[in-house]
Amino acid sequence: MSSCVCTSQPPAFRFTSLMQMPLVQAMSGRCKEAPAEGDLGYTPHNDHAVIDDNRDAFLRSVGVDPLALTLGRQVHGTTVAQVRSADRGRGRPPRFDGFPATDALVTDACDVALGTVVADCVPLLVYDTRRHVLGVAHAGWRGTVGLIARNVVVALQANFGSQPADLVAGIGPSIGPCCYEVGADVLDAWGDSGVSHLETAVVRRGEAYHFDLWTANQLQLVEAGLPSSQIEVSQICTRCEYERFFSYRGARAGLGTAGRMMLVAQLGVPG
Ligand SMILES: [Zn+2]
Repeated sequence: MSSCVCTSQPPAFRFTSLMQMPLVQAMSGRCKEAPAEGDLGYTPHNDHAVIDDNRDAFLRSVGVDPLALTLGRQVHGTTVAQVRSADRGRGRPPRFDGFPATDALVTDACDVALGTVVADCVPLLVYDTRRHVLGVAHAGWRGTVGLIARNVVVALQANFGSQPADLVAGIGPSIGPCCYEVGADVLDAWGDSGVSHLETAVVRRGEAYHFDLWTANQLQLVEAGLPSSQIEVSQICTRCEYERFFSYRGARAGLGTAGRMMLVAQLGVPG
């Protein structure tokens, strides 16, 4: 039985540690009863009108104006863009004019909602409790070994004067170390990243090696100055939990269907 109650389109996940903060943050999931099972990602193979409707329904359900959704054109890179009020709505149809080749967004504007689209890749959220600014990122293995989490912290510091000690971060549902067997290309790239204690993000399972994206991103955030107590790891593996979440690797293995989810975050207006 799916625990998902699709008729009301609730978010599948929210970061507990950010619930009391003045921001909206939510991640969609997979809902068997919803059109296209709640898929929020455009592909050459799905009906984009359905995806549009699903996106708008999800955003409204979490209190975000769909017109505020602002996106990067994700390429598994490490570029961070600053989003200003004038960028509100970039990336939405019909223009699809999201920030080119951009996998992370930061903002201090309350009228834009930052989104990232994932299925197994890590959706990352960083919020500055003092400066009231935030960032989101899409961190698959390429973004992770390229240190995109660190880049988000650096961008918050450079653009808004954030202090790492004021930042809280969330590492959302994504493929876990339990399910993420990788090859030498991933291990070699991670080995070259220079992150301290990087070996703790590699798990040996018999002859196979699994990459722990959660630990790899956590290590970067700690190295960037965040107290580890201010980093929440959802501990939800999308492939294990394929009934509730889309999983790229799961779908390839015949578990569930292919689709994408969205993490969205928007600053609230401080009272
Ligand atoms: Zn798993």
